Amino acid sequence: MTTIAPRSLTCPICSTSLDGWLVMASASKGPLTTDLRRYDDGEDPIPKMVNGCPGCGYTGEANAFEELAPAADLPVPAAWTGAWFSQEEFDDAHDVMFADRPAPQGSTLKQQLEEHLQPHAAQAAADPALRWEHHAQVTRWQGTGPLREGDAWLRAAWMHGDGKAEADDLRCRRRALHCYRKGITEKRWFSRREDLVIIAYLVGELNRRLGDSDEALKWYEQATAWSSGLQHLEDLIALAERQGRNPRDVV
Ligand SMILES: [Zn+2]
Repeated sequence: MTTIAPRSLTCPICSTSLDGWLVMASASKGPLTTDLRRYDDGEDPIPKMVNGCPGCGYTGEANAFEELAPAADLPVPAAWTGAWFSQEEFDDAHDVMFADRPAPQGSTLKQQLEEHLQPHAAQAAADPALRWEHHAQVTRWQGTGPLREGDAWLRAAWMHGDGKAEADDLRCRRRALHCYRKGITEKRWFSRREDLVIIAYLVGELNRRLGDSDEALKWYEQATAWSSGLQHLEDLIALAERQGRNPRDVV
């Protein structure tokens, strides 16, 4: 069973003390959604898995405030800077037609937090959906790659869905999809072919839930093709084939 224990944490960036949680997840037999969210038998651990500092907006699991805490002056390369909380802002920032916009500059983790997350830090500390959105940005600044960022966006989408905020749910799914596609294009983030198959399946499922069933089918088929020889993924591949024919939201 997953255990969730209260934990007093100190922010490694701004030294604020906060009441956080240490979540030790374990295998569950709860329902599984077709975008691979496994519900826990007990309390859902996802809202408390990521802690948020109400002072500066830094986020992370308990160990990211302790033994795995980053340095405040961790360099953030120009390409990873910025934070977006609407699709329009994100599209504008990535539109190559805006050639005269100032080029992004290299920064540090502390500077990015001050610029982008601190204004909403107290709100995110109390709101799991916004906290996971913040965590997606922090993940990118820390350089852990687009797959981890995508996972954070997908969890933000689930939290928005739980709160019946459908437009925000879809917006965060769109960002998760963007990150997973980027990961597949860049390839180097995958250490095992299993993960490539799972992410290709999720790209299919996110496309389906965003209304593009042709693109979804293409990615279900891609997941199947990449799974060749990986017997232990047969349940996932059966699911990919069913989602192509007769899609549902729960396995
Ligand atoms: Zn802080």
